[in-house]
Amino acid sequence: MTGVADLDAPTPARFAPGLPIRYACAGCGYEATDDRPVPLRCPRARLDDDIDHVLTRRLDPARLSWPAGDEPDPFVRYRGLFHAYHLALAAGWTDARYVALVERIEAAIAGVDGLGFRATPFERHAALSERLGFAHDGGVWVKDETANVSGSHKARHLMGTLIELEVAESVFGIGPGSRRLAIASCGNAALAAAVVARAAGRDLDVFVPTDAHPAVVARLAVLGANVTTCVREPGTTGDPTVRRLREAIDAGAVAFTCQGNENGFAIEGGQTLGWEISTELDARGVRLDHLFVQVGGGALASACIAGLDDARVLGGSTVAPRIHPVQATAVSPLARAHDRLAHRLDSDVPADDDITWAARHRSAFMWPWETEPHSIATGILDDETYDWLAVVRGTLTSGGTPVVVDEATLLEANELALATTGIDVDPTGSAGLAGLLALRRHGRLDSTETVAVIFTGVRRGAAPDAPPPPSGGPR
Ligand SMILES: [Zn+2]
Repeated sequence: MTGVADLDAPTPARFAPGLPIRYACAGCGYEATDDRPVPLRCPRARLDDDIDHVLTRRLDPARLSWPAGDEPDPFVRYRGLFHAYHLALAAGWTDARYVALVERIEAAIAGVDGLGFRATPFERHAALSERLGFAHDGGVWVKDETANVSGSHKARHLMGTLIELEVAESVFGIGPGSRRLAIASCGNAALAAAVVARAAGRDLDVFVPTDAHPAVVARLAVLGANVTTCVREPGTTGDPTVRRLREAIDAGAVAFTCQGNENGFAIEGGQTLGWEISTELDARGVRLDHLFVQVGGGALASACIAGLDDARVLGGSTVAPRIHPVQATAVSPLARAHDRLAHRLDSDVPADDDITWAARHRSAFMWPWETEPHSIATGILDDETYDWLAVVRGTLTSGGTPVVVDEATLLEANELALATTGIDVDPTGSAGLAGLLALRRHGRLDSTETVAVIFTGVRRGAAPDAPPPPSGGPR
């Protein structure tokens, strides 16, 4: 094992004359070329080859600059940080044509869901900070995603994917919308996918567990999605909805998902969150000490980590918080993987060869959770953290630590969030705050420190006339 020396080594310049943002597999080394659409999933991915195939961005900082605009729409403001933008310009598009494409999609989303994308509020909440005993020069900042498109952060991931699809189809002359979109989800991701797909006029298959909320299923139907309920088969581990999704993808569907291993572009869209957080804090000169991020499949944390990285590399941002992924006691495969990787390391920080080794020995770190999880934080009960390695790496290199919280703390955090912030967040959405509560309680956060959480999803009202969800299903 090696130490930290390699971390500061420059990435070899292997880009010119290609695009300044390119995609490569973090597991096997596959590199996408610029002469055809970049696949959403590594084409070399095989079941059971024990390689962690995730397509990830490779930036050429010399040919990228931090966006200077102040447009309210993050997909316009940060367009210069999207692969699709550079693909479009290389194909002869003007900047105005690209912006017009984004704005056309935004208008359609507003027609379906009532509003398009805007930078979401991010501010220090005084009452919450006071209740947790923070001093005036510290405190808790909340990034409020509950009023974002479809009521959560999930649509960010899928908007990035849709823009990439639209541009690639145009540039490479592929029939627009010729392939079905597909997603496995029990809640916010499915709703987000349905809104974005409807706005784009594309067909969407949604695979849901048997205990999906009736109100969510009803809304999916209104949005025109084709919903399939997936039963967990006795004696099998792994999420049955994910298994059905993989079958659909193998049959030709586009992985319109927020799982990084199935859809690398989902991470890119989600990075708008990290870009917005950096922009806001840098503008106000605020030092952020800790960021708590709830983790299910891992795309949110992965995207935040990558977005903050971009801001430091390209924009000179000073925002470099310790990253704390937060999971429920009911299912915490990321914390397990973190502990196993940390145990292998001589130092607290992984070197590149440690990461490479881990990416090629996935089963030593990540496998489906053995027991059926139940929690009030229903949105983070993924059997596996699909994007685990990027999250563990970001956690270790930032000096953060995973936090696993029990049901009482998840409930306490949600009640505290509702009582002090006025934000109508659900228990999954406030799970990061539960991690903050746990560390504060254990004396790991100083009262003068500045910490941030992301309230990711709005509370969904129960459907009064709907039957209760069937018992005995997954999650
Ligand atoms: Zn690969």
